[in-house]
Amino acid sequence: MAKTAEGIKVKAHPEQNIARYERLFDSFKKSTQGAISVAELVARLERTGISSADPRLVGALSSGGSAGDAQLDQSQFAALCGRSGGLVNRALTGALAIPDFASFTSDVTDIYENLRADDKGSVADYIPQLKRVPPDLFAISVCTVDGQQFSIGDSSRRFCVQSVCKPINYALTLEEHGPEVVHRHVGREPSGSGFNELSVNGEGLPHNPMINSGAIMSCALVKPLQAMADRFDYVAETWRRLSAGRPVGFNNAVYLSERQTADRNFALGYFMREHNAFPDATDLLSTLEFYFQCCSIELDSVALASTAAALANGGVVPLTNERVFSTGTVQKCLSLMSSCGMYDYSGEFAFTIGLPAKSGVSGALMLVIPQVMGIAIWSPRLDLLGNSVRGIGFCRELVDRYNFHVYDSLVAGNSEGGKRDPRLKKDQTAIDGTVRLLWSASIGDLDGIQAALAGGVSARSQDYDGRTALHLAASEGHIDVIEYLLDHGADAAAEDRWGGTPRSDAEKAGHPEAVSALRGPVGPGPGRPRKTTS
Ligand code: GLN
Repeated sequence: MAKTAEGIKVKAHPEQNIARYERLFDSFKKSTQGAISVAELVARLERTGISSADPRLVGALSSGGSAGDAQLDQSQFAALCGRSGGLVNRALTGALAIPDFASFTSDVTDIYENLRADDKGSVADYIPQLKRVPPDLFAISVCTVDGQQFSIGDSSRRFCVQSVCKPINYALTLEEHGPEVVHRHVGREPSGSGFNELSVNGEGLPHNPMINSGAIMSCALVKPLQAMADRFDYVAETWRRLSAGRPVGFNNAVYLSERQTADRNFALGYFMREHNAFPDATDLLSTLEFYFQCCSIELDSVALASTAAALANGGVVPLTNERVFSTGTVQKCLSLMSSCGMYDYSGEFAFTIGLPAKSGVSGALMLVIPQVMGIAIWSPRLDLLGNSVRGIGFCRELVDRYNFHVYDSLVAGNSEGGKRDPRLKKDQTAIDGTVRLLWSASIGDLDGIQAALAGGVSARSQDYDGRTALHLAASEGHIDVIEYLLDHGADAAAEDRWGGTPRSDAEKAGHPEAVSALRGPVGPGPGRPRKTTS
């Protein structure tokens, strides 16, 4: 919608829309009637990580006709772009969160393959339902804040969320009561002891909402005045919204088993009641039952990645554009996931991985890369601290390859150190560096040139036409720049695509001083003229 001078919203004229999408349309092959194929459009979108089943596209594609050989003329294409809310435009112009999605997913695949052989750890065995899960199952799903999706492995097998319900229930309590009320009943410090340790903080409250006692407290705070069935529906419905249409279920056998073997959780409940930690009128037994039910909610890794992506995206589910949590709620939830989300490994995880995450005894791990993506890893074998072995392995390998650790941006020369930034367009760093160097040379900005070289750009970089910084400085007669470049490895003999050298440029432009600087003595450095170019 455009705005008129009076500020009234008006619909863009169809002609305007057509013009806006003309260049995009022209990037497709045309039929003899000048139409493009829906199949080609879908294939191009899928290469960017946008699935044709994406809820934001389903309406748009179906009204354009999505049969195998369906065609779109220019106005139908423009209408489709409009209905997708800008998604098609951004996908086709490489403007999504991870522009080179294919490279990123090939790395994820590589990490998945490396970890498949790892059979260390063992499946949780405190209830038979978890003990029976085949230990080799393994899934990884990714969902970016723009809804680019990728999955590998057993990504449609459902598992129960277990402790991964803790951040979601905590977020619900914040939405309902605000942080001030919630934190009258639960602290926000790491406990320094196991997730089901019988301990409270100095005020007699559970240490934080990411351990069992704190999660039981969240359950006491979620819609406390409603009937049990409605409270469960409310939580399950929240998971459904976060999962963007993936099936969310309930594993009754897990629930019954949890309830049967819950001595420690009962003990935690009574211990907190003894310390007057609960809100008045809390029914302890139904609160515990509610907690076991929340742990028994089931979903697959695709749904969990969508949930993690909603947290990465400030509370809005990327695939549906629905806001589930406020940004303030998400900020608090991620803070506690960062400090307390990985049981007794939380400090080490914050140190090595530097990202908010939450794991559960089912082998689920939800990893959040704020403003970039959510990742779900599911592999049931656990280490001694209760975290998925392959889940942790994945996080380690991911931050080894990419600069996702929250403090990676502070590490000097990171891009040189082998870590990549997948948020950049293909070869973006090299392109930006070359453009900066060439631009600085043409305007005679020596500081800009020094900064570009200090940042790792080669003095010999060329643009598409083979023009180098030296060509541009020579054409403009910037002597100080020419001398600096020659001293720093620039190639005085470089030829552009028309065979022009820096010296011939200086001659043509009438800069005799530049001509002689470029003829200067053949010095020791690699950058001095190597051959005469008369
Ligand atoms: N149901 C489990 C419990 O309360 C969940 C704990 C977990 O995933 N760490 O013991």
